[in-house]
Amino acid sequence: MISRIDLRGSLPGDLRSVLPRAELDVEAALDKVRPICDGVRHRGSAAVREYTKAFDGVEPESARVPVETVHRALAELDPAVRDALEESIRRARIVHRDQRRADVTTQVVPGGTVTERWIPVGRVGLYVPGGRAVYPSSVVMNVVPAQEAGVGSLAVTSPPQRELGGLPHPAILAACALLGVDEVYAAGGAQAIAMFAYGTEECPCADLVTGPGNVYVAAAKRLLKGVIGIDAEAGPTEIAILADATASPVDVAADLISQAEHDTLAAAVLVTDSGRLADEVETELKAQVARTRHTERITEALAGRQSGIVLVDDVEDGLKVVDAYAAEHLEIHTAGAPAVAARVRNAGAIFVGRHAPVSLGDYLAGSNHVLPTGGCACHSSGLSVQSFLRGVHVVEYDRDALAEATGRVVALAEAEDLPAHGAALKARFDWEVPS
Ligand code: NAD
Repeated sequence: MISRIDLRGSLPGDLRSVLPRAELDVEAALDKVRPICDGVRHRGSAAVREYTKAFDGVEPESARVPVETVHRALAELDPAVRDALEESIRRARIVHRDQRRADVTTQVVPGGTVTERWIPVGRVGLYVPGGRAVYPSSVVMNVVPAQEAGVGSLAVTSPPQRELGGLPHPAILAACALLGVDEVYAAGGAQAIAMFAYGTEECPCADLVTGPGNVYVAAAKRLLKGVIGIDAEAGPTEIAILADATASPVDVAADLISQAEHDTLAAAVLVTDSGRLADEVETELKAQVARTRHTERITEALAGRQSGIVLVDDVEDGLKVVDAYAAEHLEIHTAGAPAVAARVRNAGAIFVGRHAPVSLGDYLAGSNHVLPTGGCACHSSGLSVQSFLRGVHVVEYDRDALAEATGRVVALAEAEDLPAHGAALKARFDWEVPS
């Protein structure tokens, strides 16, 4: 069901090359999404409709979801789901509110200051996936940090569902209504990203698009980066678990399965120094997978080359392996888990001990679940308030501070053969404002 990689003895120099990883070929998908993005660029809403028909099998008159439909979905929402969403929003909001940064002014020299001002982007497009599974929780994870950052204009898009008359799932619409987002579109895949990047007759273009999605979403974001700002690529979900002999095989198997449930391409990786735990987890996987609802999808994900059990000599080597893997989600199930977790350098989010499973983070921990995948956690962060802000330096120098800097600016300008740079400073002193 799940393959094993035995790294006991000694770790290879290039660890990444031997670790399990999804064959998610975003580069190959670029060729597929290029004509879609060009179509939307040149033909706007008509092209969005055409690709929606081709890939989602529905033909809505307009991609824009009527505001009344958004509000009706909330009125009809199951009260238990509403309660859970409200609590998810409350927890996410308090965590993300604490991420807000104050502007900082640094006195560089007497009379010379640099202030870093944090300014929210003007308009964002938030992508909420909806192909294989629907993610009202992703509405929360996209919208809350954008709102807490102070973004003025927010639009959400999610794929239309054929069996729901071409609308996004009602739980997604209800989550939008709960968060006060009225501008919602029924569009998915590359055409939705292009809609935000170029704008259409129905949807004004956005400055930034965020949110997870499949390979076509990731490819469109990569292609249109620059035309529009993007967050990190957040593709098929990944869980890595670092566990020793103290871990519960039942918990470990359940958590591997919980993420494999997302997608046949989802990755579930156990890194352990205990052969006994590895055996017990395999036994548990078989038993639990047989009992769960999405047995086929999970079996495919666990059997895929992106999943596996990695055997190491000790937790020390385990830490090297999980750092090289840079998982989207990393769970630590070892003795002294907080101290082990504190030494991890590369992970989208870290879940410490048996009472902090990834499923909690997916919905209700207060943390964000839009996280970098595919090894991107070694250079990128998950979605946060910061994702929606730009730091702008505001430079203020008075006459004396500029005079004091002039000699050095001229020296550096001469060294770069850019004498007009130095002349621009000297001009201030050659011609003074008449008093
Ligand atoms: P999706 O919304 O990303 O993609 C569905 C869209 O893909 C459809 O609307 C369709 O337009 C387009 N599409 C489908 N087939 C196509 C084709 N052949 N050519 C061009 N376009 C095509 O939904 P999904 O497919 O369910 O994928 C969601 C992904 O998001 C999963 O992999 C899941 O693991 C991931 N996810 C990641 C995170 C994270 O934070 N990393 C969070 C939630 C979900």
